[in-house]
Amino acid sequence: MAKIFCVANQKGGVGKTTTSVNLAAGLAKLEQRVLLVDLDPQGNATMGAGINKAALEGSIYQVLLGELDVAGARVRSESGRFDVLPANRELAGAEVEMVALENRERRLKDALGAVAKDYDFILVDCPPALSLLTLNGLCAAHGVIIPMQCEYYALEGLSDLVNTIKKVHANLNTDLRIIGLLRVMFDPRMTLSQQVSGQLEQHFGDKVFKTIIPRNVRLAEAPSYGMPGVVFDPSSKGAQAYIAFGAEMVERIKTM
Ligand code: ADP
Ligand code: MG
Repeated sequence: MAKIFCVANQKGGVGKTTTSVNLAAGLAKLEQRVLLVDLDPQGNATMGAGINKAALEGSIYQVLLGELDVAGARVRSESGRFDVLPANRELAGAEVEMVALENRERRLKDALGAVAKDYDFILVDCPPALSLLTLNGLCAAHGVIIPMQCEYYALEGLSDLVNTIKKVHANLNTDLRIIGLLRVMFDPRMTLSQQVSGQLEQHFGDKVFKTIIPRNVRLAEAPSYGMPGVVFDPSSKGAQAYIAFGAEMVERIKTM
């Protein structure tokens, strides 16, 4: 049965999508069966996996509204060797339309239940908001991966996310826990990065992943080729870091 992880942080541009796509590809390289769920109407994870979001036959939008099941909507990322439950702008409408539906927070969880046996990992790329879509991700998940940059404002907003996770844990999903904080876009030459990184380790202990993702231009270039960085340039420092992170996650789920 799959373990389900949300990649979440309500800030935009912190590396959620890059992490989701490259962790998916990294885990696939380690022979894990992976479904990448795009829960952001921007559809960046869909595009980053090499799938044209403008030409989808089905998407997560229909799945959340109960019009299609996951098996009917998923598509294969050929280059990354994982499956994708894709999204596009239509998904923005689901936010409003789901409000009137019963079990509105659990619609993703219920839908994923039917395919959990097909995968080792299901990764959910969340939108940059603590919205009903993100809530669906958190209700479906066993754990949360929080990517963050080691900069001065990194911790600002983290408490909102942590409080939301606590509330979901208390009221909706007792399985949910923070798996870890992932340091991304790391620049070891910056003293500030080193300092913030050290503070994170001090405050959060083993909730900070061992793997650190460096700032690496190959990761940023890969989406325009419709490939995860892990596939586009497997020997790059960024790709190697995400493969190492995949191995860390494989170890982590053994104790879950
Ligand atoms: P989010 O999904 O949180 O909005 P993204 O993953 O889209 O964030 O990343 C924001 C921008 O930063 C993108 O342009 C992406 O290519 C770039 N980026 C993310 N991680 C890295 C990295 N490790 N090195 C270089 N650029 C990165
Ligand atoms: Mg994103």
